[in-house]
Amino acid sequence: MKELSSKITNIEPAKIRKMYDMAQGLDNVISFVIGEPEFDTPQNIINAAKKAMDHGHTHYTPNSGILPLREAVSAHFKNFDKVSYNPLDEIMITVGGMQGLYLSLLVLTNPGDEVIVSDPCYTNYYGMIEMNHAVPVTVPVYEEEGFNFTEKGLREALTPKSKAILLNTPSNPTGAVADRETIEMIARIAIEHDLYVIFDEVYKHLIYDDEAFFNIARIPGMKERTIIVDSVSKSYAMTGWRVGFCLGPEPVISHMQKIQEFMLSCVNTPAQYAAIEALTGPQDALTYMNEQYKERRRIMVDRINSIDKLSCLMPKGAFYVFMNIKETGLTSEEFAIELLKDQHVVLSPGDCFGAMGEGYVRLSYATSVENINEGFDRIEKFVKKVS
Ligand code: PLP
Repeated sequence: MKELSSKITNIEPAKIRKMYDMAQGLDNVISFVIGEPEFDTPQNIINAAKKAMDHGHTHYTPNSGILPLREAVSAHFKNFDKVSYNPLDEIMITVGGMQGLYLSLLVLTNPGDEVIVSDPCYTNYYGMIEMNHAVPVTVPVYEEEGFNFTEKGLREALTPKSKAILLNTPSNPTGAVADRETIEMIARIAIEHDLYVIFDEVYKHLIYDDEAFFNIARIPGMKERTIIVDSVSKSYAMTGWRVGFCLGPEPVISHMQKIQEFMLSCVNTPAQYAAIEALTGPQDALTYMNEQYKERRRIMVDRINSIDKLSCLMPKGAFYVFMNIKETGLTSEEFAIELLKDQHVVLSPGDCFGAMGEGYVRLSYATSVENINEGFDRIEKFVKKVS
């Protein structure tokens, strides 16, 4: 047989999958591994999809998505992000934030172009960049700096091949939220070096303690070089619906629309109607879920910092804690695998997110308080045993 595409076979599988696979077949497992809300999608959103199907909205839509959803996205961004985008040619509906990221990379990069990401970062960035024959260039971000980009780190990563900075705030896996000063620094560098910024804000509604969210496209000179990637997945407990949006300059969005025809034609039609309801309907479910996450975050952080040899920062957003395990003397993979075998608790080794994640593990607190407490009783036992 002739060889399969080396473009694909050379790509490493996502490391995080290994932990899911290992947990299969074990009983009574407590999971902190999953990056999605455990809440059900709010009923009004489900009803909107049902209604759409009953009214015959079961056909293809325009490549860029239905106009009423693009209008809802435009209004939402004007109101929440304080940025204006024309629903006709500056907004594109995508299959979750994931396809938005993929399309952005596809449209922006040529083979060999460098895309700057933080290390640690969302593990899928690496594979997506490589699938596009571009090169991920990592900038280490440190716990002591709240896991945020620094000017020095970013400048050191720049080369003549730099094409884009991929900025994710709030961050998966660290929960860091880039403050306005950091975002202005990134914008300055992007403008100075003629770079694009892919601004991944899929966790933007999940920010706690009155930390302000600031969209980089608000800065003069940035709208024309920013592609915003967002989705309803995390905020509205809609991960399985697969609806996201890209907002950006007309030339970029029009190429995305062109490619969508060849890729997927369009996003699932009833799901697009559900997303309109998510953005324009009552927001009380979002408020309720955020309150729950905030409380769970407090409980998890308290439990971690009360266990000898474990520590963590208070994450400012998303629903992850990046727990420092360096004092246990185990690598992040050893910690994760031994904990799973010994106590049936599954979490993500930090090195899944980049080399700088070594010495950390990621836990998601998008799970019940009972699970958090039971999981940490087990983690406490494990850490006592191994140290
Ligand atoms: N961006 C980040 C940082 C994520 O963590 C995720 C999902 O985990 C996504 C994008 C993709 O989200 P979705 O495709 O479900 O909208």
